Amino acid sequence: MNREERQLRESIIAKCRWMNASGLNQGTSGNISARYKDRMLITPSATPYDSMKPEMIASMPLDGEYGSWDGPLKPSTEWRFHLDIMRGRPDVGGVVHTHSTYATVLAIARKSIPACHYMMAAFGGTDIRCAGYARFGTAELSELALEALEGRNGCLLANHGMIAVGANLDKAMWLAVELETIAKQYYLSLALGQPHILGDAEIAETAQGFSTYGLQEPKAKAAKSAKTPEKPASKTRAAAVGRRPEKKHSSAR
Ligand SMILES: [Zn+2]
Repeated sequence: MNREERQLRESIIAKCRWMNASGLNQGTSGNISARYKDRMLITPSATPYDSMKPEMIASMPLDGEYGSWDGPLKPSTEWRFHLDIMRGRPDVGGVVHTHSTYATVLAIARKSIPACHYMMAAFGGTDIRCAGYARFGTAELSELALEALEGRNGCLLANHGMIAVGANLDKAMWLAVELETIAKQYYLSLALGQPHILGDAEIAETAQGFSTYGLQEPKAKAAKSAKTPEKPASKTRAAAVGRRPEKKHSSAR
């Protein structure tokens, strides 16, 4: 395993732990995968995140024998939809699946989420669909999930949870948090009654503005920090770029 792959595996584990610490997920019900060259790295089945090591992450070929894996532990029981998404969606580099509470509550009610908030535009359309029900881990569930994800970066899974996908793991996790947030907001607006839903034109307009919104690419960060290349890394600049937390100083804020 080279350094790059090890770092990606460590990032998967760090995101699993964060997902539970933040309350987005409970226990080992969630699972995460990331594309690495012609393979998919995925969390192993039923392994507590605290004891997970980079070597325990399962590695599956995208185009080789379907369902085969390398590693000491079986891949997540949900490897099918992770693998099928990676195979069917070349734009996807990271997949996050959780049973986050509000997304799951709506999925239990079998409700798709309409454009109740402009952040819906980050998901590639005017709604987040709810896929029909099939038992966990099945090819049928994978088919339903892929159908619901058509042209979208997220979906609900009936009586189960949600899936968020992104160009990389960071984006997928960012969208997983956004999806749970929109689900919560929609649920609460339903409780209040008569939520207003944005129109297609309003979502299309928002989508246009999204090229510079949300999670910034490392490139954008680099460009930002490159604005003052002649200066030594001052406390202010380090704080602005978001690095070196140990150097944080009250005057730098
Ligand atoms: Zn699940």
